[in-house]
Amino acid sequence: MNKTSGIRYTICPQQPTAHLFSVSCEVDRPARDGEVFTLPAWIPGSYMIRDFARHIVRLEALADGDPVAATKIAKDRWRVVPPPGCRRLVVRTEVYAWDLSVRGAHLDAGHGFFNGTSVFFRVEGREAQRCEVDIQAPPGPSKSWRVATALQRKKVAPDGFGRYCADNYAELIDHPVELGDFDRFAFRAGGVRHEVAVTGRHHTDLKRLERDMKAICRWQIDFWGGDAPMDRYVFLVTAVGEGYGGLEHRASTALLCSREDLPKRGDAKIGERYRNFIGLVSHEYFHTWLVKRIRPADFDELDLQRENLTEMLWLFEGFTSYYDDLALLRCGLIDAADYLVCLSKTVAAVHGAPGRHRQSVAQASIDAWIKFYRPDENSPNANVSYYAKGALVALTLDLTLRQASAGQASLDDLMRALWNEFGRTGRGVREADVRRLAAELAGCPLDDFFAASVHGTGDLPLASFLESFGVELNFTDGGAPSLGVRLETAEPRISCALAGGAAAASGLSGGDLLVAVDGLRVTASNLDLLLAQHQCGETVEVHAFRRDELMRFRVRLQAAEPKTCQLKLAARPGKEARKRRQAWLGA
Ligand code: ZN
Repeated sequence: MNKTSGIRYTICPQQPTAHLFSVSCEVDRPARDGEVFTLPAWIPGSYMIRDFARHIVRLEALADGDPVAATKIAKDRWRVVPPPGCRRLVVRTEVYAWDLSVRGAHLDAGHGFFNGTSVFFRVEGREAQRCEVDIQAPPGPSKSWRVATALQRKKVAPDGFGRYCADNYAELIDHPVELGDFDRFAFRAGGVRHEVAVTGRHHTDLKRLERDMKAICRWQIDFWGGDAPMDRYVFLVTAVGEGYGGLEHRASTALLCSREDLPKRGDAKIGERYRNFIGLVSHEYFHTWLVKRIRPADFDELDLQRENLTEMLWLFEGFTSYYDDLALLRCGLIDAADYLVCLSKTVAAVHGAPGRHRQSVAQASIDAWIKFYRPDENSPNANVSYYAKGALVALTLDLTLRQASAGQASLDDLMRALWNEFGRTGRGVREADVRRLAAELAGCPLDDFFAASVHGTGDLPLASFLESFGVELNFTDGGAPSLGVRLETAEPRISCALAGGAAAASGLSGGDLLVAVDGLRVTASNLDLLLAQHQCGETVEVHAFRRDELMRFRVRLQAAEPKTCQLKLAARPGKEARKRRQAWLGA
């Protein structure tokens, strides 16, 4: 390896049953005063400090083959000073991989999965150098494993094991890798080859999945202007009993789902579970443009060892959440009525939590690291989701642009303007840029809109907007006598005593285990039935355990807040509303 060939890594699923990857990182002509090897503390796209270095169980350094000291200088950094004249410095580690999520690494006898952030050292000061990775097959008798990843291939065998490369460290860690005996298929959309690997026990109608995923990808590539920014794209899907999650990358995504979410052979309908899954596919794919290439200016220089703050996740996650389901409608996989069901869930999620009046979506973004990603029993009272409310900001902005421009412009045009000015050039986006582009499309300033919806905590004027687009919004399921609590599903333990609710007013708290209401036992499912025996305003006696102490509370029942919301196409919208609805929903 010569000087220009950069840093060389090898990774081997060495001990699958012990969940250990063997990983090495090799530097040619190391600096005389040493090299510092660091593992990221978080993975881009998932805004929480995870300290991946905690999974390193063994580490050794070799200078031209001879052991040399590796000194730990921080929780995630090691300094290795080679002897004079050293030509090759290698750090070898064993990494414990037992996190079956899209953010970490996982290895057992059935398969392996890793993100570069979990296994590949960053060599400080050499981040811009080219990297080469040798992905090795597990030792022992052939396992018929293959490799699926969007990493650039350099010299690989037909099963995918072999040498890959990346232009720099940021690219190296942006391509998760799946190893195993997965199902796979491929299709072309927008001239780009898309590969899909489906891991885990499942009975999926892969033909149908291929057709539907292709429709989503094709629509999105066209939406952004027709010229896809990647030459290859890989979906890594892992199906388990229960699980849900996705993480976006520049040319791939890792998705975790329940096998029940995938379409069964012989089933032609789109049920709620499959709709959620293709919504997730659509969401992560949309990120290929929005967040992986159109990026917040705050992320221009990512620091992988500490929190990177931005107030703009309402745009990058919220607007992506608005378009994920809308894309399903636009590409014909669901109809307008289905789409309104998806949207009504988002409205209900935002309106069901008092925290929306405490925290703006800009504050929710900047606090994602310590709040959204670390929820507790008070989260619904204190926080708002920048995904769900961000999607409603997108909806309101879309309808605002359509109205202000008399149907000449929409949020689609704003997205494409962001793509042309920032995505294509690599310049980071600031909120002022979004305001400027939106004002140009609307033909008038929208500063009041952004101040109220992004930085304010009031409810968005959804009902009046939707009405002028021929859609009725009604909140439902309210008014019954209520404690004002959310319960866990397995037992009648309060997961949150909602601020302003009856339980909170009486002193009940999150974590309390309900025992009885007026002497009758509470179960995980009968609370509403017990309370239905009473009237709003009546006082009932509630017994509950707090820790191991039995406590008694006098609770004055209140009328429940609406739990759900219904959106439906107005039966007889006015002529203008019908025209606008047609342009927005095609209905
Ligand atoms: Zn997302």
